[in-house]
Parts: sequence; structure tokens; C-alpha cells
Amino acid sequence: MAYDYDVIILGSGPAGFSCAMQSTKFDKNVLIVEADTSRLGGTWLHKGTVPSKALREAANLIQKFHAQFGDEKGRKPYEKFRMEDLLLYKKTILESKNKKVKRDIIKNKIDTARGRGTILDEHTVEVSDHLNKVQTYTADHILISTGSSPKEPDNFEIDHKNVLDYDSILGLTHIPRRLVIVGSGVIAFEYATIFAALGTRITILSDTSDILTFLDSEIKDELVHILNKRNIQIFWESEVKSVSRNALRTCMEVAFKQNDTDRMQVSETDHILYVGGKKPNTESLWSDKLDIEVDEFGYISADDSLRTTVPSIYAAGDVIGNPSSAAASFVQGRLASCAMFDMPNESPSGDTPFGIYSIPEIAAIGLTEQKAKEMGIDVTVGRAQYQNTTQADVSYETEGLLKLVFKTDDLKLIGVHIIGSQATDLIHLGQAVMSNEGSIKYFIENVLNYPTYSEAYRIAAFNGVNRVYQAGVKYKKILNR
Ligand SMILES: Cc1cc2nc3c(=O)[nH]c(=O)nc-3n(C[C@H](O)[C@H](O)[C@H](O)COP(=O)(O)OP(=O)(O)OC[C@H]3O[C@@H](n4cnc5c(N)ncnc54)[C@H](O)[C@@H]3O)c2cc1C
Repeated sequence: MAYDYDVIILGSGPAGFSCAMQSTKFDKNVLIVEADTSRLGGTWLHKGTVPSKALREAANLIQKFHAQFGDEKGRKPYEKFRMEDLLLYKKTILESKNKKVKRDIIKNKIDTARGRGTILDEHTVEVSDHLNKVQTYTADHILISTGSSPKEPDNFEIDHKNVLDYDSILGLTHIPRRLVIVGSGVIAFEYATIFAALGTRITILSDTSDILTFLDSEIKDELVHILNKRNIQIFWESEVKSVSRNALRTCMEVAFKQNDTDRMQVSETDHILYVGGKKPNTESLWSDKLDIEVDEFGYISADDSLRTTVPSIYAAGDVIGNPSSAAASFVQGRLASCAMFDMPNESPSGDTPFGIYSIPEIAAIGLTEQKAKEMGIDVTVGRAQYQNTTQADVSYETEGLLKLVFKTDDLKLIGVHIIGSQATDLIHLGQAVMSNEGSIKYFIENVLNYPTYSEAYRIAAFNGVNRVYQAGVKYKKILNR
């Protein structure tokens, strides 16, 4: 049976975009359906990845400048810089990315339909536009890449004016003096450090007693140390009881309790940012006739080929849950296309890195020291403080730590953990060595450009080798491993 398209893609974020691009390279006819009537690119371009990074870059620059040169009048960054200018910077970047996405779509002859898509059956999608005009399309395959949205809090409302979510914070027209952040996931720490860099006083209300539990403990200690230095205050095990406006004091008030005690505490603030998690965009997305399996949180179950429980329907990106990143979504969209059209493909082999764009950045790949020990692996670690690298000195960014985890017997690298400037880029050097089953000798025996932050790998490798030596192994024997 002939269908209108080879594939219909619901959503134009990184998962949908990369599936579309890859499918055109297989000479397939592609339709992208996008619910946002004015913009393509999803959370990636408009609510998350790119805009938050643009704001982060500007804030980091301001912080660096202030740390290095100070302000002749002792002003805080928010007294000197205007949000308007930071947003203009973000707008310019987004315009350029938008143009590029549009250009790629046109160049590759990808059709687009603006409106909300609903899957009627295994091969049919109905698109309803903002004027309620309905059009139906058919395809051999369908990809669900509708992403996720911010969760709403249980006991207060997000009005997008005083109480914001990760979307509306990008529309702030001024730099707040005070910001209470409710939540303690990755996005919370990104925005906490971005606004702290602009001089905002940050309070984090965390409902847990720990943060980012997947991090290596030394990296986490360093993060907590840096947060303390920035005067970012964290209230652990906090539950928000109410959020209200105090008209007399012209501020917002967040009432919360800690550790299940009865004592109510109140924090005054200009704005509240709620970052309590995400939910998949699957509401009324397909007909009840279709048996698409979802997990307990509503995320779509997909196999290694990104196929759902309905064979012609695939799902990729945030809508299938973790790791929920643009980085993973790009790969998944491409893999789904390869699977649909029986093209050879490899799922990413080896470990996958992750990056947290706090200031400074955090990135890691492979096993933490704790995890390796729990698994009974005999490991040694090598550390490099950023302050010991020349690049950190000349860049005036000396906060940070790079830690290598390697097997003691053959020096094989099995984990890299970094907090510090350029961490999210630096991690790929460790990733390349690990995916080639290399050892830390790589960093000792090869010439690395100097000065660079990569020098931290060399310092950490020497530090690691030295530990093995101090444990009683002769140097020659170590280097012969
Ligand atoms: C503040 C923030 C910072 C982030 N930073 C990073 C980062 O630094 N690095 C990183 O890798 N990731 C980052 N992420 C995560 C990243 O943005 C997401 O993981 C990624 O955008 C998910 O891609 P996706 O293709 O699944 O969906 P999305 O990018 O969310 O796109 C989904 C699209 O589907 C459309 N849609 C929804 N329903 C329908 C429907 N029924 N019909 C048609 N279209 C529909 C939506 O309008 C949207 O355009 C960040 C996220 C946030 C919120």
C-alpha cells in the first residue's frame, strides 16, 4: 500500500530533526509535524539547551570579568548589566540557529505541517492547526519525538511572572536580586550558578538530603564548596507549604518546612523558579485503539531500535525518558531512522558521557571510584587540581578538579570525572581513550598542546602512576604495563 510519506515525525526537537535529516539521506520522503506554530526546534532551541547556554555564557563572561578586574565602583553585576542585553545576545544566537534549522529542512526537501499531531492508527496522523483545520497524512513509519514539559508543583501555581518554570525564566526582563529555586536537579544548579554569577542571592529548597547522587563524591564535594563560595544557600529536605505575595514588602514569600519538623520558615525573594522535574508530552497523542506501552511515569517504552510496542511506530528523545538530553536525542533520532529503513547502525558502544552546565561545568564518563570499588575492581585514582594547570592560571579559572579512575594492574582507564572550566568538552578526550580500551599512559606518552586544560589529564595521570609507585610497585614495572 502506498502512503503519503515514508516517515511522519511528530516534533521538531533534536530527536525529530536528526531522524528527518538521516531519513532524507536514505532518499526517504519525510513530513515533520510541529505543534508550535511559529518555531521549529523544540526545547532544544527555545526552552532549554541553547537559550540556557547562551545566558550561561554571558553570565560566565561577566563573572570572569568581575573576578579578574573587579568593578571600580564596587557594583554588583546586576547593577551594571541589563537583562535586556543578555537576552539580546541569546536572541541573536537563537535567530542564527533557527535559520540554520529552517535552511537544512528546506535544502533536504523535508515537508512540514504546523499543528498538533494525533496518531489515529499504525500509519495515520491527524494534524489539527491553530484554526482547528484538520488534515490527515499517512506514512510507512511514524516517529514520536514530542519531548517533555516542565512538571507543575502540587501546592502553588506557576504564574510565569513571579513564579517561573524553566521556560518562563528565559523571559525575565531584569536580573533579580534574590531568587528561590525549588528543586535540586541538574537544571536547578545550572540556573543557580548562572544567576549567582550575575550577583543574585540564591536559595535552593531541596526536597532531598543529598544532591546529584550520581556524581563522584569528590566532584560533589568540590561543587558544594563552590556553591558555598558563591553564597548559594541550600535548605535540605524542604517542603514548600505556600507561596504568596507580600504587598507591603513588595516581595514574594516562600513558606517551607524542613526535615518534617513543625517549624515554618519563610524566605523572601523577588522570584521563585520551580524546577521539579519533567513529564512526557504524550497526553491524547494516540488513539485508544493503539497499544503503545508506557512506563509508570508515562514515558514510552522503546526497544534498542527505538521501536515501540506497535511495530510501525518509533519513539525517541525525552518522550522515552532517561537520559533526556539533546545529546542523546540526536543519536536516538538517527538510530530510529536507521532501524526503520533497515540501514546498518550501531548503538553507541561503551560509556556515554554526561555534562552539567553549571558554572563551573561538570562532566563524567564511566565508573566512579566508589562504584568501581563496590564492584570489587582494584582501582587507583589520579587527581589534578585546575590551579596546577597553566591554562587555568592564564584564564583566571582556577576552580576545579579532574579525577581519573583506572585499574591498578594494567592502568586501564575506566572513569573520568571533572568539575571546572571546559569540563563538558574535556571529557571527550577521556571518552576516546576509554572507547579504545586505553590506559592512562596515553596522557603521559603523547604530546598534548600546552597550555590547555588537557594538561590536567597529564598531571592526573602522573599523580595516579605515583600512587601506584608509592604502593610499592617499581616505576619501570608500572610503565611496562
Ligand atoms: C533548561 C534546560 C537546559 C538543558 N540543557 C541541555 C544541555 O545543555 N545539553 C543537553 O544535551 N540537553 C539539555 N537539555 C535537555 C534537552 O533540551 C532535551 O532533552 C531535548 O530538547 C529533548 O529533545 P526532543 O527531541 O525529545 O524534544 P523537544 O526538544 O522537547 O521537542 C519536542 C517538540 O515536539 C513538539 N510537540 C509536542 N507535542 C506535539 C504534537 N502532538 N504534535 C506535534 N508536535 C508536538 C513540541 O512543540 C516540540 O517542538 C536541557 C533542557 C532544559 C529544560
